[in-house]
Amino acid sequence: MVCLVQGNLLCSGELLVPELSLLDIFYPFLLLLAAGGFWTVYGLRPKMRSAFWFALSFLFGTFAFSVEFFRFVLPDVARALFAVGFYCGMGAFLVFGLIIRAEREPPYIVISAIAVTCTLTVFAFALADVHVLMRVCTAQFSMALLLLIGVGYARRRFTTKTDKALLIVTSFMALLLIIHPTVIGYYVGLPSTPLDYDRSALFLTMGLLTMVAALLCAALLVREAIVVIIGELKTLANRDELTGILNRRGFDEAVEDFSRTAQSKGHQFAILAVDIDYFKRINDTYGHGFGDRVIHSLGQMLCAHHGDDGLAGRVGGEEFVMALAVSSLEEACHMAELLRQRWARQTFFADQEDVRSTASFGVSLHRADQSLAMTIAQADKALYHAKQSGRNRVSTDQDVRLAALKQMTRFSDKAAAPDGAKVALKFSG
Ligand code: GH3
Ligand code: MG
Ligand code: MG
Repeated sequence: MVCLVQGNLLCSGELLVPELSLLDIFYPFLLLLAAGGFWTVYGLRPKMRSAFWFALSFLFGTFAFSVEFFRFVLPDVARALFAVGFYCGMGAFLVFGLIIRAEREPPYIVISAIAVTCTLTVFAFALADVHVLMRVCTAQFSMALLLLIGVGYARRRFTTKTDKALLIVTSFMALLLIIHPTVIGYYVGLPSTPLDYDRSALFLTMGLLTMVAALLCAALLVREAIVVIIGELKTLANRDELTGILNRRGFDEAVEDFSRTAQSKGHQFAILAVDIDYFKRINDTYGHGFGDRVIHSLGQMLCAHHGDDGLAGRVGGEEFVMALAVSSLEEACHMAELLRQRWARQTFFADQEDVRSTASFGVSLHRADQSLAMTIAQADKALYHAKQSGRNRVSTDQDVRLAALKQMTRFSDKAAAPDGAKVALKFSG
């Protein structure tokens, strides 16, 4: 951006045509690369409106730096107008992006007005062939003003490391835009020809510095956008589409963390396995869409219940699992019972009638000496027990053990019965 007055503006008097240098191609190429990066980010994540403005800003930068290619076909004044217009657009759009990133609505009119006024003023100067330094100062100071507006608006809301780096880089660019013409004016004096100015060591150094700063800005934002996108993809991969709560994969990951935190704090927790009763009938009677509504509703209810003290995930069609911070198995059962009752009262409207559904619950309290997988398996077994015992009820792993014990006693009774019968016969004989 420091190159705002590069050749084109200074050439308004006579036609000086320096051959194309490597820098003439290098700068636009880098800027186009940055614009492409932002455009890709915007394509992947249209919600990130700032990426759109950053892409536009760098595209305008590319155009501005490419104006010199047309030095053989465009008159100097036209090049001057295009160059300053593009530079101002570049600054203005960068500021839009910054302010939008800070989650504020940019004062589009104010910023655009400054950019347009700057362009027209410099154009008028170019036409009138006013002092070179006046044009340089007008163009660069107004650009610095634009950037400072952006920094001022965004400053308070920028908290992340990337944000802060972005502000430093933008402020640095603004500073260069102020220092550059001042240094030229006071220490170097007016260049004798535009070419001298264009190819002076100072000009090239400042241009390169600004370019590095601008690219650093772009790299930072692209990096952050990629981090955000990866985070969103991860969240998406861990969420169930229908209910919006965790899916099996998400739950498995989250429950590991949950268990680790609970154990480090010495807290207890329970696993609840939940399954809607006779759900196939609901689907068959009222349709799949209605079934989806029912599943969605249960997911929401479970999620709303645990708050910050637990987790809920959909681990199958109409199967859910929860992890709840509790102090005892009794408390876990009480919570499951509350949920069971609340669900049984929930009414859905379908085909002119009220439809209700029930669910069965399996509860297992996690013990420090067993694995998480085992606790989940025990909750599953308890759920199966609840189903076997008639559904619409809460069963615990203790119930399962008790039932197993009863069964074993029954088996051993049966096995012992013939001998017992013989003994009985003997005695009776
Ligand atoms: P039980 O009381 O023993 O749990 O019986 P059930 O009918 O609820 O269980 P079953 O496993 O026989 O049927 C589950 C049904 O859930 C079968 C499947 O068509 C349905 N289902 C699975 N995923 C979805 C879904 O995403 N949406 C809808 N609407 N139905 C689903
Ligand atoms: Mg079911
Ligand atoms: Mg099921």
